[in-house]
Amino acid sequence: MSPTEISSYDSELRSAGIRVTAIRSLMWRTLRQHIHNAFALSDVENLLVTVDKSTIFRTLTLFADARLLHLVDDGTGCQKYCVCQCHDAEHHHGHVHLTCVVCRKTWCLDDVTIPHVDIPADFEVQEREYVVKGICMKCRRMRR
Ligand SMILES: [Zn+2]
Ligand SMILES: [Zn+2]
Ligand SMILES: [Zn+2]
Repeated sequence: MSPTEISSYDSELRSAGIRVTAIRSLMWRTLRQHIHNAFALSDVENLLVTVDKSTIFRTLTLFADARLLHLVDDGTGCQKYCVCQCHDAEHHHGHVHLTCVVCRKTWCLDDVTIPHVDIPADFEVQEREYVVKGICMKCRRMRR
């Protein structure tokens, strides 16, 4: 990986208002390069075995607060996150997620935006979720 690539990830952190530290830089780079769908804390732990769990958790929370990550509630009871792909400042639009009820994995449909729903004007929207539950191809094959 070239130094330019490293610094572009770091600049994403800076533009989100995050002070860059070695661990934040490593974590953000790892998420951007190795994770392409919704992930749980344990997935990051498996990628970064040398980093302690509480640091990983705190850093994920920091990234989510800075809106670099979306919190995904996929109904599995396990907090999931995904890298924000919103191309608007609102960060409300989000994208559709597919959750497999067998293996409990969640996929991001990055280019499928959540359909428009009319919400009463006096209700302040913070987050929208659109989760489609079903059985993934791998699990369907194993069932046969
Ligand atoms: Zn977003
Ligand atoms: Zn599955
Ligand atoms: Zn997602």
